[in-house]
Amino acid sequence: MGMARQSDKEAKEQFFGEVPGYPEGATFLNRYELSQSRVHRPLMAGICGSGLSGAESIVLSGGYEDDEDYGDVVIYTGHGGNDLETKKQVRDQELTRGNLALAHNSLAGIPVRVIRGHRHRSPFAPKTGFRYDGLYRVEDYWCERGKSGFLIWRFRLVKLSSAGREQGEGDAVNESREPYRAISGGTRDRIVTRVIRDTATTLQVKRLHDSTCQICGVRLETDAGAYAEALHLRPLEPPHNGPDTPENVLCLCPNHRVLVEHGALTIEDDLFVPAAGTRLRTAKGHTIGQEYVRYRREHYRRNAEPVRLEPPAENDDDLLYEDPELLED
Ligand SMILES: [Zn+2]
Repeated sequence: MGMARQSDKEAKEQFFGEVPGYPEGATFLNRYELSQSRVHRPLMAGICGSGLSGAESIVLSGGYEDDEDYGDVVIYTGHGGNDLETKKQVRDQELTRGNLALAHNSLAGIPVRVIRGHRHRSPFAPKTGFRYDGLYRVEDYWCERGKSGFLIWRFRLVKLSSAGREQGEGDAVNESREPYRAISGGTRDRIVTRVIRDTATTLQVKRLHDSTCQICGVRLETDAGAYAEALHLRPLEPPHNGPDTPENVLCLCPNHRVLVEHGALTIEDDLFVPAAGTRLRTAKGHTIGQEYVRYRREHYRRNAEPVRLEPPAENDDDLLYEDPELLED
Protein backbone atom coordinates (compact mmCIF):
# COMPACT_ATOMS: atom_id res chain seq x y z
CA MET A 1 0.00 0.00 0.00
CA GLY A 2 3.09 2.17 0.20
CA MET A 3 3.22 5.62 1.64
CA ALA A 4 -0.49 6.24 1.40
CA ARG A 5 -1.21 3.62 4.02
CA GLN A 6 -1.54 5.12 7.44
CA SER A 7 -1.40 3.14 10.62
CA ASP A 8 -4.37 0.86 11.27
CA LYS A 9 -5.03 2.63 14.53
CA GLU A 10 -5.28 5.96 12.81
CA ALA A 11 -7.33 4.51 9.99
CA LYS A 12 -9.90 3.21 12.43
CA GLU A 13 -10.51 6.64 13.92
CA GLN A 14 -13.30 7.40 11.54
CA PHE A 15 -14.84 10.83 11.74
CA PHE A 16 -18.11 11.59 10.00
CA GLY A 17 -19.54 15.04 9.41
CA GLU A 18 -17.86 18.42 9.72
CA VAL A 19 -14.37 18.47 11.12
CA PRO A 20 -14.17 21.16 13.84
CA GLY A 21 -12.06 24.11 12.73
CA TYR A 22 -12.53 23.40 9.01
CA PRO A 23 -15.79 24.94 7.79
CA GLU A 24 -17.02 24.69 4.23
CA GLY A 25 -14.66 26.62 1.96
CA ALA A 26 -11.54 25.75 3.92
CA THR A 27 -8.57 25.44 1.56
CA PHE A 28 -5.47 23.31 1.66
CA LEU A 29 -2.20 23.65 -0.22
CA ASN A 30 -1.75 19.94 -0.86
CA ARG A 31 -2.80 16.43 0.09
CA TYR A 32 -0.44 16.40 3.04
CA GLU A 33 -2.07 19.47 4.58
CA LEU A 34 -5.50 18.02 3.77
CA SER A 35 -4.56 14.78 5.49
CA GLN A 36 -3.18 16.53 8.57
CA SER A 37 -6.46 18.42 8.99
CA ARG A 38 -8.31 15.05 8.96
CA VAL A 39 -10.81 16.49 6.49
CA HIS A 40 -9.57 13.75 4.12
CA ARG A 41 -7.01 11.52 5.79
CA PRO A 42 -5.50 9.33 3.07
CA LEU A 43 -2.68 10.89 1.08
CA MET A 44 -3.54 9.23 -2.21
CA ALA A 45 -6.86 7.44 -2.05
CA GLY A 46 -9.93 9.21 -3.40
CA ILE A 47 -12.34 7.58 -0.95
CA CYS A 48 -11.79 7.38 2.79
CA GLY A 49 -14.13 4.83 4.28
CA SER A 50 -15.07 1.30 5.12
CA GLY A 51 -17.65 -1.06 3.67
CA LEU A 52 -18.71 -1.78 7.24
CA SER A 53 -19.36 1.76 8.38
CA GLY A 54 -19.43 4.06 5.37
CA ALA A 55 -17.27 6.69 3.69
CA GLU A 56 -16.31 9.81 5.60
CA SER A 57 -14.82 11.81 2.73
CA ILE A 58 -14.03 11.80 -0.98
CA VAL A 59 -11.77 13.90 -3.16
CA LEU A 60 -12.86 14.91 -6.66
CA SER A 61 -9.61 14.99 -8.49
CA GLY A 62 -10.13 14.34 -12.16
CA GLY A 63 -9.59 10.61 -11.93
CA TYR A 64 -12.62 9.39 -13.87
CA GLU A 65 -13.96 10.48 -17.20
CA ASP A 66 -17.53 9.67 -16.15
CA ASP A 67 -17.74 12.12 -13.23
CA GLU A 68 -20.32 14.88 -13.67
CA ASP A 69 -20.14 17.96 -11.46
CA TYR A 70 -23.10 20.35 -11.19
CA GLY A 71 -21.93 22.02 -8.01
CA ASP A 72 -24.61 21.12 -5.51
CA VAL A 73 -25.17 17.81 -7.27
CA VAL A 74 -22.34 15.49 -8.24
CA ILE A 75 -22.59 12.24 -10.16
CA TYR A 76 -19.52 10.53 -8.74
CA THR A 77 -17.97 7.48 -10.33
CA GLY A 78 -16.73 4.76 -8.01
CA HIS A 79 -13.23 3.35 -8.04
CA GLY A 80 -11.59 0.28 -9.44
CA GLY A 81 -11.39 -1.39 -12.83
CA ASN A 82 -8.82 0.86 -14.41
CA ASP A 83 -5.32 0.21 -15.54
CA LEU A 84 -2.76 1.77 -13.24
CA GLU A 85 -0.48 2.73 -16.12
CA THR A 86 -2.89 4.13 -18.68
CA LYS A 87 -5.66 4.99 -16.16
CA LYS A 88 -8.14 3.73 -18.72
CA GLN A 89 -11.09 1.58 -17.64
CA VAL A 90 -10.16 -2.02 -18.48
CA ARG A 91 -12.70 -4.06 -16.51
CA ASP A 92 -15.96 -3.76 -14.60
CA GLN A 93 -16.06 -1.92 -11.29
CA GLU A 94 -17.47 -3.84 -8.35
CA LEU A 95 -19.62 -2.84 -5.42
CA THR A 96 -16.84 -3.50 -2.94
CA ARG A 97 -14.41 -1.49 -0.82
CA GLY A 98 -14.81 2.27 -1.29
CA ASN A 99 -17.84 1.81 -3.53
CA LEU A 100 -19.51 -0.37 -0.92
CA ALA A 101 -18.63 2.28 1.68
CA LEU A 102 -20.50 4.96 -0.28
CA ALA A 103 -23.45 2.59 -0.77
CA HIS A 104 -23.52 2.20 3.00
CA ASN A 105 -23.73 6.00 3.35
CA SER A 106 -26.79 5.90 1.14
CA LEU A 107 -28.42 3.09 3.09
CA ALA A 108 -27.72 4.56 6.51
CA GLY A 109 -28.17 8.24 5.61
CA ILE A 110 -24.62 9.23 6.51
CA PRO A 111 -23.31 12.32 4.69
CA VAL A 112 -19.86 12.41 3.13
CA ARG A 113 -17.37 15.30 3.08
CA VAL A 114 -16.61 16.41 -0.47
CA ILE A 115 -13.27 17.96 -1.36
CA ARG A 116 -12.45 19.30 -4.81
CA GLY A 117 -8.90 19.38 -6.12
CA HIS A 118 -7.41 21.69 -8.73
CA ARG A 119 -7.01 18.83 -11.21
CA HIS A 120 -10.73 18.06 -11.09
CA ARG A 121 -12.14 18.94 -14.51
CA SER A 122 -15.02 21.17 -13.46
CA PRO A 123 -15.87 24.86 -13.25
CA PHE A 124 -16.31 24.25 -9.52
CA ALA A 125 -12.73 23.10 -9.00
CA PRO A 126 -10.33 25.40 -7.12
CA LYS A 127 -7.54 27.03 -9.14
CA THR A 128 -4.89 25.59 -6.84
CA GLY A 129 -4.70 23.07 -4.04
CA PHE A 130 -7.81 21.56 -2.45
CA ARG A 131 -11.02 22.95 -0.99
CA TYR A 132 -13.51 21.41 1.40
CA ASP A 133 -16.94 21.96 -0.20
CA GLY A 134 -19.29 20.71 2.50
CA LEU A 135 -21.38 17.68 3.37
CA TYR A 136 -23.23 15.75 0.70
CA ARG A 137 -25.95 13.16 1.02
CA VAL A 138 -25.46 9.97 -1.02
CA GLU A 139 -28.95 10.05 -2.43
CA ASP A 140 -28.71 7.08 -4.75
CA TYR A 141 -26.29 4.66 -6.39
CA TRP A 142 -26.54 2.40 -9.39
CA CYS A 143 -24.45 0.68 -12.05
CA GLU A 144 -24.30 1.40 -15.75
CA ARG A 145 -22.03 1.09 -18.76
CA GLY A 146 -19.44 3.85 -18.68
CA LYS A 147 -17.94 5.61 -21.67
CA SER A 148 -15.39 2.82 -21.82
CA GLY A 149 -18.11 0.15 -22.17
CA PHE A 150 -17.31 -1.38 -18.79
CA LEU A 151 -19.62 -1.44 -15.82
CA ILE A 152 -19.18 1.51 -13.48
CA TRP A 153 -20.84 2.37 -10.16
CA ARG A 154 -22.22 5.85 -9.85
CA PHE A 155 -23.32 7.83 -6.83
CA ARG A 156 -25.66 10.79 -6.81
CA LEU A 157 -24.38 13.23 -4.21
CA VAL A 158 -26.59 16.13 -3.14
CA LYS A 159 -25.24 18.93 -1.00
CA LEU A 160 -26.89 19.06 2.38
CA SER A 161 -26.65 22.73 3.23
CA SER A 162 -28.40 23.64 0.01
CA ALA A 163 -30.95 20.84 0.17
CA GLY A 164 -33.78 23.34 -0.21
CA ARG A 165 -32.56 24.07 -3.71
CA GLU A 166 -32.27 20.48 -4.87
CA GLN A 167 -33.26 19.68 -8.39
CA GLY A 168 -36.79 18.39 -8.70
CA GLU A 169 -37.82 20.17 -5.55
CA GLY A 170 -40.59 21.93 -7.39
CA ASP A 171 -42.39 18.64 -7.93
CA ALA A 172 -42.54 17.74 -4.29
CA VAL A 173 -45.82 18.30 -2.54
CA ASN A 174 -44.73 16.81 0.73
CA GLU A 175 -41.28 16.38 2.12
CA SER A 176 -40.28 15.30 5.54
CA ARG A 177 -36.69 15.68 6.48
CA GLU A 178 -34.70 14.74 9.49
CA PRO A 179 -31.30 16.23 8.83
CA TYR A 180 -28.32 16.65 11.08
CA ARG A 181 -29.67 14.26 13.64
CA ALA A 182 -26.71 13.34 15.76
CA ILE A 183 -26.52 9.76 16.93
CA SER A 184 -24.15 9.30 19.79
CA GLY A 185 -21.63 6.64 18.92
CA GLY A 186 -19.10 6.44 21.68
CA THR A 187 -17.12 9.62 21.76
CA ARG A 188 -18.16 10.70 18.29
CA ASP A 189 -21.44 11.87 16.87
CA ARG A 190 -22.83 10.81 13.57
CA ILE A 191 -25.04 12.85 11.33
CA VAL A 192 -27.92 11.14 9.63
CA THR A 193 -30.20 12.51 6.99
CA ARG A 194 -33.13 10.94 5.27
CA VAL A 195 -35.56 12.45 2.85
CA ILE A 196 -39.01 11.09 2.07
CA ARG A 197 -40.67 12.82 -0.81
CA ASP A 198 -44.11 12.50 -2.32
CA THR A 199 -45.45 13.90 -5.54
CA ALA A 200 -49.06 14.15 -6.63
CA THR A 201 -48.44 11.02 -8.70
CA THR A 202 -47.03 8.94 -5.83
CA LEU A 203 -49.95 9.98 -3.63
CA GLN A 204 -52.30 8.86 -6.40
CA VAL A 205 -50.60 5.44 -6.67
CA LYS A 206 -50.76 4.98 -2.89
CA ARG A 207 -54.46 5.78 -3.02
CA LEU A 208 -55.04 3.25 -5.81
CA HIS A 209 -53.40 0.58 -3.65
CA ASP A 210 -55.02 1.82 -0.45
CA SER A 211 -51.46 2.06 0.95
CA THR A 212 -50.98 -1.70 0.61
CA CYS A 213 -47.49 -3.01 -0.25
CA GLN A 214 -47.35 -4.43 -3.78
CA ILE A 215 -44.92 -7.14 -2.68
CA CYS A 216 -46.14 -8.42 0.69
CA GLY A 217 -49.67 -7.07 0.84
CA VAL A 218 -49.12 -5.48 4.23
CA ARG A 219 -51.01 -2.29 5.01
CA LEU A 220 -49.54 -0.40 7.93
CA GLU A 221 -52.26 1.16 9.99
CA THR A 222 -51.48 3.94 12.43
CA ASP A 223 -53.64 6.30 14.45
CA ALA A 224 -52.73 8.94 11.90
CA GLY A 225 -53.79 6.77 8.98
CA ALA A 226 -52.24 4.14 6.73
CA TYR A 227 -48.57 4.42 5.87
CA ALA A 228 -46.84 3.35 2.66
CA GLU A 229 -43.87 4.56 0.68
CA ALA A 230 -43.65 5.13 -3.04
CA LEU A 231 -40.68 4.36 -5.24
CA HIS A 232 -39.96 5.59 -8.73
CA LEU A 233 -38.59 2.61 -10.66
CA ARG A 234 -36.62 4.91 -12.91
CA PRO A 235 -35.62 7.81 -10.65
CA LEU A 236 -36.79 11.31 -11.50
CA GLU A 237 -33.41 12.88 -10.89
CA PRO A 238 -30.72 13.36 -13.53
CA PRO A 239 -29.09 11.48 -15.08
CA HIS A 240 -32.03 9.02 -15.00
CA ASN A 241 -34.78 11.55 -15.81
CA GLY A 242 -37.58 9.05 -15.26
CA PRO A 243 -41.16 10.31 -15.66
CA ASP A 244 -43.39 11.15 -12.72
CA THR A 245 -46.20 8.93 -13.99
CA PRO A 246 -48.09 6.08 -12.27
CA GLU A 247 -46.51 3.54 -14.68
CA ASN A 248 -43.13 4.38 -13.09
CA VAL A 249 -44.24 4.20 -9.44
CA LEU A 250 -44.61 1.35 -6.94
CA CYS A 251 -46.47 1.45 -3.62
CA LEU A 252 -44.46 -0.45 -1.00
CA CYS A 253 -44.09 -0.95 2.72
CA PRO A 254 -40.90 0.63 4.14
CA ASN A 255 -39.10 -2.74 4.27
CA HIS A 256 -39.75 -3.57 0.66
CA ARG A 257 -39.06 -0.04 -0.51
CA VAL A 258 -35.57 -0.23 0.99
CA LEU A 259 -34.92 -3.67 -0.49
CA VAL A 260 -36.01 -2.64 -3.99
CA GLU A 261 -34.30 0.75 -3.77
CA HIS A 262 -30.97 -0.88 -2.90
CA GLY A 263 -31.24 -3.64 -5.46
CA ALA A 264 -31.76 -6.48 -2.99
CA LEU A 265 -34.99 -7.47 -4.71
CA THR A 266 -35.25 -7.50 -8.46
CA ILE A 267 -38.43 -7.50 -10.48
CA GLU A 268 -38.79 -9.55 -13.66
CA ASP A 269 -40.57 -8.31 -16.78
CA ASP A 270 -43.69 -10.29 -15.83
CA LEU A 271 -43.61 -8.52 -12.42
CA PHE A 272 -42.43 -11.66 -10.62
CA VAL A 273 -40.14 -10.92 -7.67
CA PRO A 274 -37.96 -14.05 -7.40
CA ALA A 275 -36.45 -13.31 -3.99
CA ALA A 276 -39.91 -12.78 -2.53
CA GLY A 277 -41.48 -15.69 -4.43
CA THR A 278 -44.39 -13.57 -5.50
CA ARG A 279 -45.68 -11.40 -8.28
CA LEU A 280 -46.25 -7.67 -7.76
CA ARG A 281 -49.81 -7.02 -6.66
CA THR A 282 -51.79 -4.90 -9.04
CA ALA A 283 -54.58 -2.44 -8.49
CA LYS A 284 -57.35 -1.30 -10.75
CA GLY A 285 -56.22 1.79 -12.63
CA HIS A 286 -52.51 1.24 -12.02
CA THR A 287 -50.44 -0.18 -14.85
CA ILE A 288 -46.73 -0.72 -14.33
CA GLY A 289 -44.43 0.09 -17.25
CA GLN A 290 -42.22 -2.84 -18.23
CA GLU A 291 -39.53 -0.47 -19.49
CA TYR A 292 -39.24 1.04 -15.99
CA VAL A 293 -39.12 -2.40 -14.33
CA ARG A 294 -36.29 -3.25 -16.72
CA TYR A 295 -34.47 0.01 -16.04
CA ARG A 296 -34.54 -0.66 -12.31
CA ARG A 297 -33.33 -4.23 -12.77
CA GLU A 298 -30.47 -3.24 -15.05
CA HIS A 299 -29.17 -0.42 -12.89
CA TYR A 300 -29.84 -1.47 -9.33
CA ARG A 301 -28.22 -4.77 -8.58
CA ARG A 302 -24.88 -5.72 -7.28
CA ASN A 303 -22.22 -6.27 -9.92
CA ALA A 304 -24.80 -6.99 -12.60
CA GLU A 305 -26.04 -10.07 -10.81
CA PRO A 306 -29.04 -10.54 -8.55
CA VAL A 307 -28.25 -8.94 -5.25
CA ARG A 308 -27.96 -10.48 -1.86
CA LEU A 309 -27.03 -7.89 0.73
CA GLU A 310 -24.06 -9.50 2.39
CA PRO A 311 -21.94 -8.08 5.14
CA PRO A 312 -18.42 -7.29 3.95
CA ALA A 313 -15.71 -9.79 4.74
CA GLU A 314 -14.46 -9.55 8.30
CA ASN A 315 -11.02 -8.52 7.20
CA ASP A 316 -12.45 -5.60 5.26
CA ASP A 317 -11.00 -3.11 7.68
CA ASP A 318 -8.77 -1.37 5.20
CA LEU A 319 -10.17 2.10 5.44
CA LEU A 320 -8.03 3.80 2.88
CA TYR A 321 -8.87 2.80 -0.63
CA GLU A 322 -6.31 3.33 -3.31
CA ASP A 323 -7.16 4.63 -6.69
CA PRO A 324 -4.98 5.55 -9.61
CA GLU A 325 -4.46 9.15 -8.62
CA LEU A 326 -0.93 10.26 -8.17
CA LEU A 327 0.17 12.13 -5.14
CA GLU A 328 -0.58 15.74 -5.86
CA ASP A 329 0.98 18.89 -4.65
ZN1 LIG B 1 -43.99 -5.13 1.84
